[in-house]
Amino acid sequence: MAKTNCETCQHDDEIWKDIPGYEGKYQVSSRGRVKSMSRVLVDSLGRKRKWKERILKPGDNGNGYEHVQLGLGHSRLVHSLVLEAFVGQRKSGDDACHNDGNRKHNCLVNLRWDSRAGNHDDKWKHGTVYQRNRTHCKRGHAYAGENLMWVPGRRERMSRRCKSCEMASRRIKEKPELKPLRDQIANEYYQRLDISRNRENNPKGEVI
Ligand SMILES: [Zn+2]
Ligand SMILES: [Zn+2]
Repeated sequence: MAKTNCETCQHDDEIWKDIPGYEGKYQVSSRGRVKSMSRVLVDSLGRKRKWKERILKPGDNGNGYEHVQLGLGHSRLVHSLVLEAFVGQRKSGDDACHNDGNRKHNCLVNLRWDSRAGNHDDKWKHGTVYQRNRTHCKRGHAYAGENLMWVPGRRERMSRRCKSCEMASRRIKEKPELKPLRDQIANEYYQRLDISRNRENNPKGEVI
């Protein structure tokens, strides 16, 4: 059996439920996995065929959401299957929302039905916008010039870091006894970077 714990939220209990309308044929789990159940099929010539239980491999629907085929030509979004089985049918005006913004994270704990307005109000999105609009790190160093670092962030986006604070962290990693001086060290790095940035903008070294 494949490992079932979710790499994103780390919870490992998995409850299976029938998919409404597909009872006895397909089930969906609280971890967002879909399986076809073992059953005996009778073909058009009356022959019996045993069908083994199988976890379906989801595909991408082109918008970053996972979908599976429930029988021929019945493509269904995994997040909708989870919500329909565990929460209930979608009410008109509601969308399936991924709490953490990860469209492929279909654990029940990460999903909810919510109005379109509610979807836009996701705290997670507020957090992202807030981060992107910030101009300074928490120690007041500008995200600019030499002090601006780009690092891979969530969901394959690049996110900004304060180079001075990063350098201070590196220094403290090497010498943990400097930890109480973190603010001071970061500020010193920032002053040095700031000076070199001014020199770049002002190659003749004039005082500005
Ligand atoms: Zn999860
Ligand atoms: Zn900083």
